[in-house]
Amino acid sequence: KKNVLFLRSFTILVLSWVIIKPNFCFSSVLSSLKALHLEGHITFENNEFAARDFGNQIHVHPLAVVHPKSVADISEIIKHVWQMGPSSELTVAARGHGHSLQGQAQARRGVIINMESFQGQGMQVHRGQFPYVDVSAGELWINILHETLKYGLAPKSWTDYLHLTVGGTLSNAGISGQAFRHGPQISNVHQLEVVTGKGEVLICSKEQNADLFHAVLGGLGQFGIITRARISLERAPKMVKWIRVLYSDFSTFARDQEHLISAAKTFDYIEGLVIKNKTGLMNNWRASFDPQDPVQASHFVSDGRTLYCLELTKNLYPEKSDTVNQEIKDLLSQLSYIPSTLFMSEVPYIEFLDRVHASELKLRSKGLWDLPHPWLNLLVPKSKIQHFAKEVFGNILRDTNNGPVLVYPIHKSKLDNRTSFVSPNDDIIYLVAFLSHANPSSNGTDSLEYVLTQNKRILDFCDVAHLGVKQYLPHYTTQEQWRTHFGPKWEVFIQRKSAYDPLAMLAPGQRIFQKAV
Ligand code: FAD
Repeated sequence: KKNVLFLRSFTILVLSWVIIKPNFCFSSVLSSLKALHLEGHITFENNEFAARDFGNQIHVHPLAVVHPKSVADISEIIKHVWQMGPSSELTVAARGHGHSLQGQAQARRGVIINMESFQGQGMQVHRGQFPYVDVSAGELWINILHETLKYGLAPKSWTDYLHLTVGGTLSNAGISGQAFRHGPQISNVHQLEVVTGKGEVLICSKEQNADLFHAVLGGLGQFGIITRARISLERAPKMVKWIRVLYSDFSTFARDQEHLISAAKTFDYIEGLVIKNKTGLMNNWRASFDPQDPVQASHFVSDGRTLYCLELTKNLYPEKSDTVNQEIKDLLSQLSYIPSTLFMSEVPYIEFLDRVHASELKLRSKGLWDLPHPWLNLLVPKSKIQHFAKEVFGNILRDTNNGPVLVYPIHKSKLDNRTSFVSPNDDIIYLVAFLSHANPSSNGTDSLEYVLTQNKRILDFCDVAHLGVKQYLPHYTTQEQWRTHFGPKWEVFIQRKSAYDPLAMLAPGQRIFQKAV
């Protein structure tokens, strides 16, 4: 009887320890965070925004959100978590504009660093032969565009949407229609300031702390928090010619795209879209595209065919105004698009670059911007793109009514293999982006389940057919999948993790590493 009583009291003791300990730790962590002296501030309530992102599928609540005012604030908070050691579960994630798709900027009961509130030393534009701008990593690209345009300058490489932060896109790659010439945004950065997972503040570039520099570019937030970036600039045009032409045959479309990205004299922006069984051809959320010949555009009937739309721009500079039209004509004459499908328009550079925002405003007004976005972005090697297109665009994809499907090539030589960014091995790589939204109240072809099943079919096909495809903005659930994703770069990735974030406290939402507790 004595033994039973002892066992019972022992069990109660253990159970209460198990229940009380986390609460005890939790409250001590909370009070230690409250005791920190920061120039900015920490919030422990009303942090729901930090559990949301553009993907709108994962919602993980943090313990606290830091609104830093200085690099010292960011360093202080990371040092604090670092000093707690491996016994604390606390993790830290930088949040840019929260436009991730799968909770990558979230941290369960962790600390979110709200980079948008961090303005640092503001923006400083440097003119001269090789102009650049120094910016805070929490800055939105649209603000950088506005500021640099005051000097007649602009960054060289963009994303299709500019309401994203510098730190957020540099942690992935930042790919758009200029990447064929300049490389992605990670190829257009001279220098970074980074706070590592130990709280050290380091300046890095190709010459200084080069390993850290390459680690954080495309590094999915795993090696440090980027606080400042030096971005390469070029002369900005005031206006651009914005051109769209259509193809009914993928091989011809791809051949023309590859020709254009490799030609010495070419366009300034080259992308492409798949259009399949689409109702309202020009009624596309990406395009506030207003061709000069709207009658021709709106009357173009696709007859249920799959079409491929080549999208191009040419920068317009006053000193070339006499020759540019002829130049465009010459370039277009080398292409084999359907002759009646040339849609051309002339718009201010800023309007072209900020084109998705115009659609965002329209969708927001109809309550359609905050839907779930089960996007799938793939990098397909050139040698496999025909096989991919035949099966995926021909069979798996039924229509493109759930959102645009982009497809365009870039040169592998424009990517720096020393960065953490992973891509297939061919000399030319196609970005294929299925930018779907889902209707939460539907159980039809626009439901979340339908889109996710379609995404899985595409991924399964790529796997079975051994296409050597890599995910862009990757999302995996097991470390084995990450190992496969990184391939030969995995060892370096791990070495860098143990050098710069040995406790694995940073960006837990990527689900690559788990903090050892
Ligand atoms: P967040 O979502 O806040 O963060 C992304 C990741 O980076 C997280 O893991 C976060 O912890 C980490 N992170 C954020 N800031 C920092 C920092 N300062 N230091 C270290 N780590 C940090 N991408 C393209 O390449 N090309 C496109 O054309 C393109 N178009 C898009 C259009 C739309 C409408 C949307 C929603 C996204 C698009 N993207 C595109 C994807 C976009 O680049 C990524 O989703 C990017 O992560 C979003 O940036 P963010 O500032 O919102 O980052």
